[in-house]
Amino acid sequence: MSHEYSIKLYDTLMKNEKELEPVEPQIVKMYVCGPTVYDYTHIGHGRTYVVYDSLKRYLTLRGYNVIHVMNITDIDDKIIRRAREENRDWREIVDEYTRDYLEALEKLGVKVDHHPRVTNHVGEIIEFIQGLIERGYAYIAPSGSVYFEVDKYDDYGRLSSRLEKEYWSQEPEFLGEKKKPYDFALWKAAKPGEPYWDSPWGKGRPGWHIECSVMSSRYLGDRFDIHGGGTDLIFPHHENERAQSEAYYGKKPWVSIWMHTGLLMVGTDKMSKSLGNIIPLKDALNKWNPGTLRLWYLHVHYRKPLSFTDESLEQVNKLYNRVVSAYELLRKLLPESKELFYLRDDDVRLAKELLRLNTEFHRALSDDFNTPQAIAVMNELLTIIFREIQYNPKYLLTTLATRILRSMNYVFGLFEEREIREDYESLLNEVMRVLVDTRKELRRRGMYDLADNMRNELLKAGIQLMDKGLETTWIITKKKIS
Ligand code: AMP
Ligand code: ZN
Repeated sequence: MSHEYSIKLYDTLMKNEKELEPVEPQIVKMYVCGPTVYDYTHIGHGRTYVVYDSLKRYLTLRGYNVIHVMNITDIDDKIIRRAREENRDWREIVDEYTRDYLEALEKLGVKVDHHPRVTNHVGEIIEFIQGLIERGYAYIAPSGSVYFEVDKYDDYGRLSSRLEKEYWSQEPEFLGEKKKPYDFALWKAAKPGEPYWDSPWGKGRPGWHIECSVMSSRYLGDRFDIHGGGTDLIFPHHENERAQSEAYYGKKPWVSIWMHTGLLMVGTDKMSKSLGNIIPLKDALNKWNPGTLRLWYLHVHYRKPLSFTDESLEQVNKLYNRVVSAYELLRKLLPESKELFYLRDDDVRLAKELLRLNTEFHRALSDDFNTPQAIAVMNELLTIIFREIQYNPKYLLTTLATRILRSMNYVFGLFEEREIREDYESLLNEVMRVLVDTRKELRRRGMYDLADNMRNELLKAGIQLMDKGLETTWIITKKKIS
């Protein structure tokens, strides 16, 4: 189903909606800042991950080949601190929480194409830092740490709208050796007992920001289309990434669109590991099915904050169940629905209405990925399915409604059609067990006419019973379940 809407997304740098015009035609390269693996993945992270996954699905539906890269920060101050607190090897911490993160993504149906980890890219990071030193953007401090010299880059602060230097200060722990309070570490000299790698400047490890400049460009090129993360990363992380990369490559813009998801809040606080107010995703996934969680994430526009309440999830869960019921209803109606070679005016009107909804769905998603609007359109579709198509299953209407609902389900990622099919299969097995047992009883009581009748009717329906003594097996002879 084609539509004319070009895709626009809000760009944090330009502070307006920008048309998506990929660097390479038909390919969208998207990098999203992923987790620092020192604690459980929580439902705040889940929001960011689901938004970009859903955007990727939409872009795929629109015919783009999307490459989605999300890093794993597996060496960092917080990891080292946690290892020290728990008297464990830092790698053990990393393994435990990487596993937790990947399991949560799998359950949520978030499919990332590549997960680069920092510790596998230290060589490339060192080369990048060398390049920055050679180009005059970075300096080596006596400790062996290397810092980015912010004053050398002429566009600092624009992404985060911090145009005055007084708002740039960061990493106060290095004030003693930085030229300016707003310079930031590219390479941190190792302190005793810390993990380290050898480098031209001595033993140490990468700073946080440099990893994303290096890994995004390694996999997506020195210009790519979408760079994402939560709004908590705009300053200093993304400001620093941008400065480093544009300094290194000597061209602008490094990325075409900077996207930021609003944060998941608990009251007035950001849900965050350091504030201790997290709900681990694994716990939420025990309570709610993944489709409900995804729909909940998407029912508020991605740029707005989202507040966690059980009530709002309950509410969304009802909608999720309605979508599943509508889908099952259509599956039942499809084989029954008839091509009548003539449609009433009302049917033609309804078909047009369905096409309008499809257009509206695309209009909403092309306009800065307005998922709440798209969900409202899905709601309208559900109403038509339950109020009209259910009682009037014309072939044109059932197929059209099915196609549209399928594409909505694909973008929102609510359920795999396979899951529903598996449900049907287990239901069929159960129903057949009851029928076979009942027929066995009929035969035991000598009521052969009823038993034969049952066999003949089932055969007409496409199921053949095969008796061997008193035992009966069955096979499907006509494929009725698509
Ligand atoms: P972190 O492990 O905290 O660096 O976060 C990994 C990703 O999740 C980043 O893209 C963050 O911006 C995002 N994120 C962290 N906390 C939240 C939150 N409360 N709501 C939405 N996204 C978040
Ligand atoms: Zn990053």
